[in-house]
Amino acid sequence: MAQQLIVNGLVVTGGDSSTVIPGGAVCYDGATIVEVGTTAALEKKYPAAKQRNVNGMVVMPGYICTHHHLYSTMARGMGIPGTPASNFSEILERLWWKVDYALGMEDVKYSALIPLCECIRNGTTTIIHAGPSCREGSLDVIADAVKQAGMRASLCYEVSDRNVAGGGVEENIRFIKRCNKEKDPQLAALFGLHASFTVGDKTLERCAGEAKALGAGFHTHVAEDKADVEHSLKNYKMGVVERFHKFGVTGEKSIFVHCIHIAEKEMDILAQTKTAAVHNPESNMNNAVGVAKVLTMLKKGVLVGLGTDGMASDMPAQMRCAYLLHRLDQRDPRVAFCEAPQLLLGNNRAIANRHFPVKLGELAAGCAADIIVVDYIPPTPFGSDNFLGHLIFGMVDATVDTTIASGRVLMEGKKITALDEQAIAAKSRELAPKMWARRRAND
Ligand SMILES: [Zn+2]
Repeated sequence: MAQQLIVNGLVVTGGDSSTVIPGGAVCYDGATIVEVGTTAALEKKYPAAKQRNVNGMVVMPGYICTHHHLYSTMARGMGIPGTPASNFSEILERLWWKVDYALGMEDVKYSALIPLCECIRNGTTTIIHAGPSCREGSLDVIADAVKQAGMRASLCYEVSDRNVAGGGVEENIRFIKRCNKEKDPQLAALFGLHASFTVGDKTLERCAGEAKALGAGFHTHVAEDKADVEHSLKNYKMGVVERFHKFGVTGEKSIFVHCIHIAEKEMDILAQTKTAAVHNPESNMNNAVGVAKVLTMLKKGVLVGLGTDGMASDMPAQMRCAYLLHRLDQRDPRVAFCEAPQLLLGNNRAIANRHFPVKLGELAAGCAADIIVVDYIPPTPFGSDNFLGHLIFGMVDATVDTTIASGRVLMEGKKITALDEQAIAAKSRELAPKMWARRRAND
């Protein structure tokens, strides 16, 4: 593949010592970045490269989402008639657990393709997904959709006692083995567990043993609702993190999602074992489950990332939600200005880099060519010292013009080129009512 050169960008490099390069350029070859610098210098050095002039727009690493679900598309606008669910358990029982039983293989494919389109549109190039749907082969169907979209994803199947007899454990094992063998830089695997309250000791012991044998980490919901903690305290006489730790589920490769109702001593376990936590502020507000003590966890040295929990694919929006939520929660306008962007830019990069064999989240030589161009015209000077202000108050509302992942252009001029968005949405509209008819038959 010929060398490609993005020129005249306001380049934000990302990485530990992120800098802004006005009149910046990024040269990449195939799936890898070759060099980042000024347009003048790189034009001179790479005269044969094919140029893409971005006319002053912001060029930065593609966003990473460390907790996503690619199966909730068909629930959108299709609410259940009757009294609204009054708590989190009812939301699961009445909506999600019936939806995931009703999804067929074609639904799994299209309910993955839709959020993948939304990821591309919002500049999200890497996701870590957990799905409960359809069992054997469902992860391959989602992996095909990810490859078709040109994205990068870590996938797992959420085992619970509801689906263990149906092959949930085997589906994780099969897909982890596939990823270990293929070493595809666009695909990774984790061992999925739904949550402590849906996984009894017998299932948990079996999953822990299988994952250990495969060298895989876990992706599981943790203390999303108080009911999860109450269940653990009542049945196991310990908190959810303590229980997972006892079974060897903690560790550097594991991702504990939400961690809203965990004790401070459990935060210490996360920090000591280097287990990552993932904060999903919009989802938590939507489900009215509580506010994760993110600032405390960060102070304790827990690596806290940021996810959408399948509600959306727009990462700057999650960052801004976290920024606002923690200021209000603490009643303190001094907090979260640095921490919310840190979750999105620093910590999601660190988490993703534990799971993929290529270096993500930074524009630098040798890193993956996952690059986005954001259509943002700064109204004040824009530099390394005030980038966070632009990100929180301006770029959060800007649209993404171009999305490139693994060196492949997935969207340019705000038009998705990797997938036929119209045709995918039309097919999804055709499938959704049929899936809902099956779901209602389960009432
Ligand atoms: Zn989730």
